[in-house]
Amino acid sequence: MLLREPGRPLQAATVPDPVPEPGQLLLQVSACGVCRTDLHLRDGEIEPGRLPLILGHQIVARTEDGRRVGVPWLGFADGTCRYCATGRENLCVAARFTGRDIDGGFAQLTVADERFCLALPEELSDEQAAPLLCGGLIGWRALSMCGDATRLGMYGFGSAAHQICQVAVHQGREVYAFTRPGDAGTQAFARSLGAAWAGGSDAEPPAQLDAALIFAPAGALVPAALRAVAPGGTVVCAGIHMSDIPSFPYELLWHERTLRSVANLTRADGRELLTLAPAVPIRTTVTTYPLQEAERALDDLRAGRFDGAAVLVP
Ligand SMILES: [Zn+2]
Ligand SMILES: [Zn+2]
Repeated sequence: MLLREPGRPLQAATVPDPVPEPGQLLLQVSACGVCRTDLHLRDGEIEPGRLPLILGHQIVARTEDGRRVGVPWLGFADGTCRYCATGRENLCVAARFTGRDIDGGFAQLTVADERFCLALPEELSDEQAAPLLCGGLIGWRALSMCGDATRLGMYGFGSAAHQICQVAVHQGREVYAFTRPGDAGTQAFARSLGAAWAGGSDAEPPAQLDAALIFAPAGALVPAALRAVAPGGTVVCAGIHMSDIPSFPYELLWHERTLRSVANLTRADGRELLTLAPAVPIRTTVTTYPLQEAERALDDLRAGRFDGAAVLVP
């Protein structure tokens, strides 16, 4: 499925089989998750690294010798820049991202640098494993920025939040889920996964939060989340793209509140979460679509027509 021009639908196309370079694996795609980043690229809100482009960076695939691997968003880091040298390959100056700079998994075949592929726990099916590779991972990295916060808000309850809610509950935290105002269905979905409270993003939670994770791409949620966290609390913006943040009084940040973003992932994040996932266990709610219906999956994501995560199956 090719993105030829941002703002236009993905198109089914037959392209030459990819040829692995030294160090790359030739992979048969079994499943590929659909991420909001794919939608941002499709809609022209994030610049593609090349055109035409094959999207998809939550790839479960098999190697030519039959091994199952996961291919995440971080497709390459140089290993030598000052970020890589200090354990922050997610910020690598030469990073290349799957499904943005490198053709991704909305395809039957792909190639990936073996050093950036992740081992997947046997307990998880292909469809269950795929959404962990970005939604789960970014959620995990964002959660790790919250220290030992007990009362944890989550703004936007889609792929990432519904997976990481289960991890947070497993760790003994209380989850407060914020959805679009009036979205009773998603609020019930959040409660079914252990959220202590669920309500609209315009509602006041019943208790002050220790930290909040913002997954929805709406800048207006930043002052809302700062307002909801207690002194000393942290607000983490976990998305790659967000509408502009409205100005807000300094009082909302005062009292040692922290506002930060989370960008990309490291392979260490991947290994941590994929080890933890079967122990929780994380049960991902998945809607599958045939590969040819990638555009419909993106449209349903944009409109919020499914709970949890969408996965394309070739
Ligand atoms: Zn680097
Ligand atoms: Zn993603």
